[in-house]
Amino acid sequence: MTRRPLIPRNATMRPEWKPEHIYAIRYATRPTALRHEHFYGHIDCGDDSMPIDYFVWLIAGQGEAILVDAGFTPEVGARRGDRIHLGSPLEAAEALGYPIAAIKSLIITHGHYDHTGYVHELPAAKVHMQERELAFWVSRHAHKEMYRAILEENDLLELVRRNLSGGVDLITGDAQLAQGVSVHLVSGHTAGMQVVRVVVDDQVVVLASDASHFFENIEADKPFSITHSTPQMFDAFDRAFELASSATAVGQIIPGHDPRVRDRLAPVDPALGLDGRVWQIV
Ligand SMILES: [Zn+2]
Repeated sequence: MTRRPLIPRNATMRPEWKPEHIYAIRYATRPTALRHEHFYGHIDCGDDSMPIDYFVWLIAGQGEAILVDAGFTPEVGARRGDRIHLGSPLEAAEALGYPIAAIKSLIITHGHYDHTGYVHELPAAKVHMQERELAFWVSRHAHKEMYRAILEENDLLELVRRNLSGGVDLITGDAQLAQGVSVHLVSGHTAGMQVVRVVVDDQVVVLASDASHFFENIEADKPFSITHSTPQMFDAFDRAFELASSATAVGQIIPGHDPRVRDRLAPVDPALGLDGRVWQIV
């Protein structure tokens, strides 16, 4: 696993910048989803209702922020159907005090359509993604229907263009992006899936994104239905636990799509007008 120095060449946060808050921004939901859609293989999960939420995350402090993932737009949601878009995650970030100009870095955990939609609205943000992830989406397998169906072509083209202009930090393994913020290649769900570890004071948070869509995936050791490598998905669960653990405690692991996040976290001040859309992790 490649390890890089504390402040890499492509770092965009000031060296003295530190994260102070982490927010979960819920930008869409699909209430009609069923249990059997969310677990891989021959596990009998039944047809009970199991709604899915769609999140991005904002790592914020001192007027600047790192956005983790870029959602999908209302147009893409409408085309794919059955999804209720709740509003632009960038507008939610702005309401929290972090307009587009304040978002210096954009971590893309993986290339699926629900994580890349607003990349084009953040032209000045440095994109951090795994080299292996971008490489897969321009590989000989990318056109296969099972992969192609969960990609947005225009988002991929935007990432390729951004890379050609030097706007993408392609990571090979682990990288420290700022004080207290690091990314870690886990693969499994996709070829180059990465998770994000954030330390705020003595609190450790692992933003698992789709390394674990729901708490139940990681807590019951049951991988999600869409896999690039199922053994790597099990290893990704272990890695997330390891990254969340400090000498004295296990920190929070935040899944990518679980409505139960809303029960476990505190909503932000209702005066912000973000009811039902933003929760504070730290
Ligand atoms: Zn996702």
